Amino acid sequence: MRKRIVAGNWKMNKVFSEAETLITEIADALDNVEIENAEVILCPPALYLEMAMDVAFESNFTVGAQNVYPEDSGAYTGEISPLMLKELNVDYCIVGHSERRKYFGESHEFLLRKVDALLKHDISPIFCCGELLPEREAGEHFSVVKRQLEESLFHLAPDEFSKVVIAYEPVWAIGTGVNASNEQAREMHAHIRKLVKGKYGLETAENLSILYGGSCNAKNAAELFAQPDVDGGLIGGASLKAEEFIKIVLSL
Ligand code: PEP
Repeated sequence: MRKRIVAGNWKMNKVFSEAETLITEIADALDNVEIENAEVILCPPALYLEMAMDVAFESNFTVGAQNVYPEDSGAYTGEISPLMLKELNVDYCIVGHSERRKYFGESHEFLLRKVDALLKHDISPIFCCGELLPEREAGEHFSVVKRQLEESLFHLAPDEFSKVVIAYEPVWAIGTGVNASNEQAREMHAHIRKLVKGKYGLETAENLSILYGGSCNAKNAAELFAQPDVDGGLIGGASLKAEEFIKIVLSL
């Protein structure tokens, strides 16, 4: 049975003291929450991963990184390697977020290298895909997402692919307050699962967790998560307030 997941992407927010407070509040709230077959993942800025791991050790959530460089070590000033994440016991890492694609020019090929580098160290990529607004308006959203998966993920062997989580994040919905409709989320998630089934077979497709991301909040999470093939969410802005984030977790 596939896992239901709520992952919080904090992006470049919170100074250390604020991050500590937020993580402690979330950890305390999660102590009183039990959702079967579900996982809560927090993805704070890299500087706070060690602190987050310390809290996670005695709590009910796991930790993910927001980014990685696809080499174990070397002359890549400012970058963080999968080996460094592994040593901290980080379980997940976001790959392919639209902000990285847009502001840092990350290509399909580069994302493929990140996916491989993470899996080499048994860290699960949370692979983001999703179309821009003009692409949706042109009716190209299904083919855009297909290409993103084919170019960066579908080279994986089946046992490697089974460690991947996919997040469908329509770019026009990220940070805009305009979420995908239930119907739009439902049909894209079904499309993704069908593509995975075509490539890896029914069992792998059925076991894959596909998260929705894009202006998901405490008000719309329950409806979105109730759609077939939507197995939870990747949450940006709404993951920065403990109370709202916990409500989203409770919507699983
Ligand atoms: C994100 O950046 O992954 C995201 C989903 O952001 P938001 O929830 O703020 O739209």
